Amino acid sequence: MRTLTRRSTVLLTLLTVAGGMTAPVAGAEQERKPLPKVAVIGTGGTISGVSKSRVSYQDYESGKLPVSKLVNDLRPEVDAIADVSTEQFGNKGSGSYSIADYRKLTASVDQALKKSDAVVVTTGTDTMEEFAYWLDLTVRSDKPVILTGSMRPWTVIGTDAPANLYNAIHLAASRKTTCYGTVLMLNDQIQAAREARKTNALRMDTFTSGDSGELGVIDQDNIRLNRAPARVQKCGTKAWKTPFDLDTIAKKALPKVEIAYSYQDAGPEAIKAFADSGADGVVTAGTGAGGLSPAMTEARKDAVKNGVLFAATTRTGNGAVYDDNTEGVIGAEDLTPQKARLLLLLSLAATDDQNRIRSWFATLGSAQFQPRR
Ligand code: ASP
Repeated sequence: MRTLTRRSTVLLTLLTVAGGMTAPVAGAEQERKPLPKVAVIGTGGTISGVSKSRVSYQDYESGKLPVSKLVNDLRPEVDAIADVSTEQFGNKGSGSYSIADYRKLTASVDQALKKSDAVVVTTGTDTMEEFAYWLDLTVRSDKPVILTGSMRPWTVIGTDAPANLYNAIHLAASRKTTCYGTVLMLNDQIQAAREARKTNALRMDTFTSGDSGELGVIDQDNIRLNRAPARVQKCGTKAWKTPFDLDTIAKKALPKVEIAYSYQDAGPEAIKAFADSGADGVVTAGTGAGGLSPAMTEARKDAVKNGVLFAATTRTGNGAVYDDNTEGVIGAEDLTPQKARLLLLLSLAATDDQNRIRSWFATLGSAQFQPRR
C-alpha cells in the first residue's frame, strides 16, 4: 500500500540520518515513482445501475450513476494502485449505442491514451463483446484497454460491480496487457475481445471465450496471464495495428451490414429484405459449419449477384466456418456472427477488394501460430 511505503520510507530516512548514514536512494526513488495514470470512461449499463431495493437484483434502472461516483466509491483503495481520472461518454444500456457512437468511442479511447497509461471502459454487458471487438479493431494505441461491467447493479447486496471495476483498474494499472488489444475483466476473469461472448442472460460468470478459454485471472493482488491473444506476436511492429484507422476511413456513414439466422426451412425473406434495403454485407448465422436452408441459399446467390458480400458463421457458438473461396461468401472462421458483422463492416469501409477482406478474415487476430523454422 502506498501509505505504508511512505511511512516506512520516512522512518528509515529518520533512522539513517540519525545514525549519520545517507538515506538509501532506491527507497527514495521508489517513493517518488508516480502511479500509473488510468482513465475510466463510463458508458452506462448495469454497473452504473440503481436498484429498487438492496435485494432487487433484476429490478433496477441501468445507466444512472455517474462513473465519477463509481470510482469515488472505490476510494481510498483505488488511489493506492492508480492515478485515476474519469470521463462520462454516455450513461445508457449497451444496446442503445449506434455504430456512429462506436466511432466516437474509439476517438475518446485513443485521445485518453495520449495522456494515460491505460484505459478502462465501463459498459453494459449485453453487447460488451461488440464494444470490445470494435475497440480491438479500431484503437490505434497498443496501451491496455480494459472493458468491464457487471451483472448486478452497484446498489444491491452482493453486487459484482465494485469488484469488477476495481479489478479492471488494477489490471489496467499493471500494464500487463500491453499489446493485447482490448480485453474484458469481469468475475475475476480476463478474456480477449475477439473471443469473449456473453453466454448467460443472468449469471455473474456469463462471459466465456468459447474453445479458446480465458486469458487469465485476477486473484486479489495476483494477476495471472496464462496466454496472450495472437496479435501480441506483432507487438512493437507496424503490423500490430489493424487496417482500420478511422481517421483515414471516409467520414461518410459506415457500410450497412446485417445478420441473417438460419433454421429448419428458413425462408429467403430476411436476406432478400436486407439486400433490397441496401445492405452492403450480410453475415449468416448458419446451422453447423455454416449451413443455410435451400431458400436462404438461393437468396444469398441472388444477393451476391447484386454485389452484397457475405460472411458465413455458425449459430452453434463454437467451432469454425472455413473459407472455400466461394465468390461473394467468406468463411468467418471462429468469429461469432456479431463479431463477424463488425469485421465485415469495417472491412467494407476500408476496401472493396474481396480478396483483401478474405485475407483479413483469415489472419486478423486469428490464433494461429507458425513455427519459426
Ligand atoms: N441491459 C444492460 C446493458 O447491457 C445489461 C448489463 O449491463 O448487464 O446495458
